[in-house]
Amino acid sequence: MAAVGKPFGAMSIAEIQAGLAAKEFTAAEVASATISRIERDDAQMHAFLELTADMAADAAAKVDAAIAAGTFAEAGPLAGVPVGFKDNMNLLDTHTTCSSNMLANYVSPYTATCVEYALHAGALPMGKLNMDEFAFGSSTETSAFGPTLNPWDFQRVPGGSSGGSAAAVAAGLVPVALGSDTGGSIRQPASFCGIVGVKPTYGVVSRYGVVAFGSSLDQVGPFARSVEDAALALNAISGFDERDCTSQRADVDFTANLAEGVQGMRIGVVPAFMEADGLTEEVRARVAEAAQKLEGLGATLVDIELPNAKAAMSAYYVLGPCEAFSNLARFDSVRYGYCDPGHADLGAQYEASRAKGFGPEARRRIMLGSYLLSAGVYDTYYYPAQQVRTLITQDYDRAFQQVDCILTPVSPRTAFKFGEIGDPTQMYLSDMFTISINIAGNGGMSVPVGLGADTQLPVGVQLISPAFKDVNMFRAAAALESVYGPAPVAPQFAKED
Ligand code: GLN
Repeated sequence: MAAVGKPFGAMSIAEIQAGLAAKEFTAAEVASATISRIERDDAQMHAFLELTADMAADAAAKVDAAIAAGTFAEAGPLAGVPVGFKDNMNLLDTHTTCSSNMLANYVSPYTATCVEYALHAGALPMGKLNMDEFAFGSSTETSAFGPTLNPWDFQRVPGGSSGGSAAAVAAGLVPVALGSDTGGSIRQPASFCGIVGVKPTYGVVSRYGVVAFGSSLDQVGPFARSVEDAALALNAISGFDERDCTSQRADVDFTANLAEGVQGMRIGVVPAFMEADGLTEEVRARVAEAAQKLEGLGATLVDIELPNAKAAMSAYYVLGPCEAFSNLARFDSVRYGYCDPGHADLGAQYEASRAKGFGPEARRRIMLGSYLLSAGVYDTYYYPAQQVRTLITQDYDRAFQQVDCILTPVSPRTAFKFGEIGDPTQMYLSDMFTISINIAGNGGMSVPVGLGADTQLPVGVQLISPAFKDVNMFRAAAALESVYGPAPVAPQFAKED
């Protein structure tokens, strides 16, 4: 075990790499101890769906060889760091199930670019993480393989759809995990589990090899317990990829401004968001406090308006299902996906396979998208939703003429109990503050700011950046972290061995 008495998954990237460089432990030990700890401590929480112990050992052997050869400095920014991947990311020879019966037996024939970049940076792959089915949801309750529990309170959801990724990092099983965010699926679980979660600007991380939900909205990003670790992980996984036609050539060091502080920064706050229906008092108080702290550190707070943001939810539940309907058409039981046996004709096979392979929320989205794109209906919903998209993007463009980043709530409330939200439309409201960022395509991240006064559960605030100026939100996030401290490991997982 580690010299400092902490499990490796509870260490920062810098702590792991310092220990490796000083030969206090080897990467092989990091890999095997982390796998053992996940096997033991994740049995009930269920963040991981599959462990990749052999791959972790192979990756560790390369890092150890570099250390022995005196070339550790070139082994990559994530060298020796255990990383988990959301189960919608292909990793050659592992299952990529998207937590769906439709893909329960699907084995990745290749590796997604984001995963490949992480491995190239020296990461030790620990396994695949639970999620809402095909990333539809805000709680992991739609996973066909059972939900993940919130490490702060097993009665509660970890958020979603990247709930397994958030829970694994918050429990200190891994320092870094990757998730994907189409409407809030990195930021909301990060907030519910009290860690940092980043949805970068659309195009910063390649979507190649990540099972598509809404192709114009999906973006991959990291979870970590500190802003610096999130920035280091994003450095490793970002970059141009010719296999994703929306990938951008923006070579950015996301750690560049972390130490600058917020002196002279203009930070927007949105009074209409702070008065939104459904925002709980404890979350409102934490967001207001975070704004004051930033002001205390030298930032200037500016009231801004995002008048069309209130239509973001409606636009998203048109655009998202339309894109999902198109993307999920490939799971037809012939080319991909579960095949229900024994049908005489192809139509019956399609119908039975898709009815049995997809869970209720996936079927709801597919049927909605199919209806919205049908002749006659398209002009009534899809076309106006695209117009709303433009208006929301223009709102942000206007706001960012006045401010460098924007501070808002992430989720209107802290983690809810399993089964507490039965009505799908109530569940959709979980993302009321996060969805407009995917619609506009700019950057957003969740930063932990302590516990809610009433529920004593983690609260995150959202920082929003102009497109391709993600460094702005990282700069403000680092300043907040200087006040609130890096995220603690969830209490019941923090006990030392
Ligand atoms: N909760 C939202 C939804 O259900 C967002 C999901 C996501 O970002 N993948 O669509």
